[in-house]
Amino acid sequence: MSELEIRGLRVTFDGFTAVDGVDLDVAPGDLRFLIGPNGAGKTTLVDAVTGLVKAAGSAKFGGAELLGRPVHRIARSGIGRTFQTATVFEELTVLQNLDIAAGAGRSMWTMLRRRKDVPEAVARAMETVGLTDLADSPAGTLAHGQKQWLEIGMLLVQDVKLLLLDEPVAGMSHDERQATGELLQRISEERTVVVIEHDMDFMRSFARSVSVLHAGKVLSEGTVAQVQADPKVQEVYLGH
Ligand code: ADP
Repeated sequence: MSELEIRGLRVTFDGFTAVDGVDLDVAPGDLRFLIGPNGAGKTTLVDAVTGLVKAAGSAKFGGAELLGRPVHRIARSGIGRTFQTATVFEELTVLQNLDIAAGAGRSMWTMLRRRKDVPEAVARAMETVGLTDLADSPAGTLAHGQKQWLEIGMLLVQDVKLLLLDEPVAGMSHDERQATGELLQRISEERTVVVIEHDMDFMRSFARSVSVLHAGKVLSEGTVAQVQADPKVQEVYLGH
């Protein structure tokens, strides 16, 4: 069964159709890349699934309809997303950011907690995203790539089952991209990951499956090799 099952998804802004009848199935444990030229409708599709824009059609997660539900209820159902600009609390440490995301940040005691008291889930997330050595560093001092990893860690501690990531490697160095790709592969062993991406080299190296969007529609779908061999995709990307 698909974990995410989208049928006939349609989003219209003042008469302009940004997402035009999209069907999309993402299996549990997939590492799916959504690619396509600027304006193809990738972000709008993710906005629709997370409740940020109104959409017609159907989007089911684990069999339950998402469309029409408020944003916070969709988030609570196990779907989490990141945006192109990382939204971490700059003045707080890595550990405090993760604590707050885990919902444990309500008391001052939590903020002052000694390292040995770090909850298992927070410690595990910090290890997974490779930030354990920086636990006590303010998030504002992290490198760009590390902030993205922290934000992904904040989804992991919330026990998000489906991660929707908007261009996670934008602005990253080659080494950071490589580390991020390996991180997403590890995460997708237990969870499902959907990545909006412009970076074709990154997509080729790490995608398990690919959906190509163009003008609000799914133009092509399959493995990296399959979509690359599709003449329709070559046409859209001609000159890229
Ligand atoms: P992508 O993420 O593939 O680059 P988007 O989903 O951001 O594409 O945008 C798809 C189309 O919808 C674009 O033409 C964009 O200008 C338009 N669009 C996106 N958001 C809005 C909005 N809030 N109001 C009007 N048009 C929008």
